[in-house]
Amino acid sequence: MVNLDKYSSIFIANWKLNGNSSFLKDYYEKLKVNSNNCTIICSPSIYLKSLKRNNESLFCGAQDVSSYKEGAYTGELSASMLRDNNIDFCLVGHSERRQYFAETNDNVNIKSSNLIEENIIPVICIGETLEQKENNLTEQILSTQIKDGIPSSANHQNALIAYEPVWAIGTGLTPTLDEINQVHELIKHFDTKFRNFKVLYGGSVKSSNSKEINDLNHVDGCLIGGASLKVDEFNIIIS
Ligand code: PEP
Repeated sequence: MVNLDKYSSIFIANWKLNGNSSFLKDYYEKLKVNSNNCTIICSPSIYLKSLKRNNESLFCGAQDVSSYKEGAYTGELSASMLRDNNIDFCLVGHSERRQYFAETNDNVNIKSSNLIEENIIPVICIGETLEQKENNLTEQILSTQIKDGIPSSANHQNALIAYEPVWAIGTGLTPTLDEINQVHELIKHFDTKFRNFKVLYGGSVKSSNSKEINDLNHVDGCLIGGASLKVDEFNIIIS
């Protein structure tokens, strides 16, 4: 399993349903990783085997995994298959999966547990919708997502948490810096168990705001969607 304690910050590119072979070739020709940080590229699954890694500061991640370990589940990809292909990280419970594929906290819990068994680090995504934020439900929603979605086998060395307010994903909107820092602190204090967890921020991170967000004392890195598709911009974010 990757030793997360080695890195000053962790940056994850979520390409979502984007990319093709020539995009990938061009991307890796231009990508400049910083060896103090951990950089993880999460591509659509068909490209996972073509991603580059140096096993020092550059790794590959999947965007999802099956809840099932094997069997008659057409179209699925198991945690052991990801391990068999040297995939070290996997996003779990991204808000788009919760929204469009009805993923529940129970699914997130099972997937994360299966990944940990295979020595793959789940990046467990949590976050409130705008409506929940406006109704002052952020703390309650995050607490439930954590309590129900994070398996008992998870610890600060084998799992990551990504706080991604749903209303900030792909919208250009972000919480204030104070809000981000406070929510990250809150997450780390829900239970003593989470005190040392690394918590990444995601939601409209770009080259112009990444430094101020990543410099916050309770933020341990960023999960980047749209801006990770532009390699020159991503290079600035991870530099
Ligand atoms: C994401 O997909 O997790 C994300 C944070 O997207 P964006 O950076 O585009 O808001």
